[in-house]
Amino acid sequence: MEVRIGVPHMGNFYIAFEALVQELGITPVVPPRPSRASIEFGISHSPEFICFPFKATLGDLKMALELGANTLVWFEGAWSCRFGYYGRLQHRILKDLGYEFNSLIFSGNPIDAFRDARKALKFDTMRFVKAVRIAYSKSKAVELTEKLALNTRPFELNRGDTTRVERTALRLIRKARTVAEVQYLRGRIMEMFKSIPVDKTRNPLKIWLVGEIYMVLEPEANFHIVEYLGEHGVLVRPFTTIHNWTFRSIRAGRYGPEGEAYARELAKPYLPYCLGGEEQLSIGYMIMAKRKGYDGVIHLHPFTCMPENVAYPILQNLSTRYDIPLLSISLDEHTESVGLLTRVEAFLDLLQQRHTNG
Ligand code: SF4
Repeated sequence: MEVRIGVPHMGNFYIAFEALVQELGITPVVPPRPSRASIEFGISHSPEFICFPFKATLGDLKMALELGANTLVWFEGAWSCRFGYYGRLQHRILKDLGYEFNSLIFSGNPIDAFRDARKALKFDTMRFVKAVRIAYSKSKAVELTEKLALNTRPFELNRGDTTRVERTALRLIRKARTVAEVQYLRGRIMEMFKSIPVDKTRNPLKIWLVGEIYMVLEPEANFHIVEYLGEHGVLVRPFTTIHNWTFRSIRAGRYGPEGEAYARELAKPYLPYCLGGEEQLSIGYMIMAKRKGYDGVIHLHPFTCMPENVAYPILQNLSTRYDIPLLSISLDEHTESVGLLTRVEAFLDLLQQRHTNG
């Protein structure tokens, strides 16, 4: 039987995922971006107080099954956050609703996961190495594109130019078939961003974006806040990238002056250990934002997210102690874009006044 693996969305993760499984000879099934309909499905079939990413990704999986996926995969773990159990529970819910598929739950340990996946999906090691190479090179090209977009958008002369170029670049990366092609594309993408008309005399506000990873990286969940901020002249810095998340097991994004290890060190006096989510990183990157002269921090988190709710009072405290403005936004299925963007706009006004008054 042909294996067709469905995947939920989180930012541009699907590009690396698709490359990986295609190279393994498996058919990827990428559902449409999360929508009102898919989220509604997730809400009505999830436990009421489970976090929003669970509900949104449940909707994605249902869409993937309806598009022909016959296999769903999850990497579980016994860390304290609920994320490690999403797959088991989501697959159970979908099976109870009558969807038929092969549920593959692998260990969160990369070596065990590789051994079990090789057995279940029947691929050889050399093919896997090749698949990881193309997925990695695409993931790096996606990261480059996202960073160029973040750095160009606040300076663009014609609103929307950067977003258009970013989407074109992502389409080209998705279509590339070989590592060499992706390498060639990197140069082309840099040229595409350079051709955007900009005003480099601008002195934009700088905001660091911290919080729960899905809410920070999935534009449909955060109402495209990154684009919104950029188009309102803000240099925005999400605390991580989808590449770092995808290749976390090989320590992507861990080291360096803005790496996760350093952020965790900065956070330790306030929260000495990780609770299973991104809470320690939220704290560490808030301190880093102050040290690097950022104007403010936006903290995005799902309403019922335990780790981020622990971080929240600490962030408030740090905001006073380090004199750096904080906007903490709790998001769930009841959040409306108008309400959210009005709060962001008011925050930008405050930051602009501080910025202008020096
Ligand atoms: S970090 Fe928060 S939102 Fe993410 S899975 Fe854990 S509890 Fe849910």
